[in-house]
Amino acid sequence: MRNKIIHKTCIACNKSYDLAVNSEDLERYEQGEYAQNAFPYLASSERELIISGLCGDCFNDLFETGD
Ligand SMILES: [Zn+2]
Repeated sequence: MRNKIIHKTCIACNKSYDLAVNSEDLERYEQGEYAQNAFPYLASSERELIISGLCGDCFNDLFETGD
């Protein structure tokens, strides 16, 4: 059950996001579980917000530089 809402603000664009997770999964993550194992139901861009604080758009901007 996704009974916990994580409020996240992207550190680059300041957009806020609400991520619905299971509180037990969040505890597991805080105890060192990998985000992809703790939150398999989140989109990779949503997990990125939890891991790095960047939303999907900003993460892509940062890593798709294209010289
Ligand atoms: Zn962003």
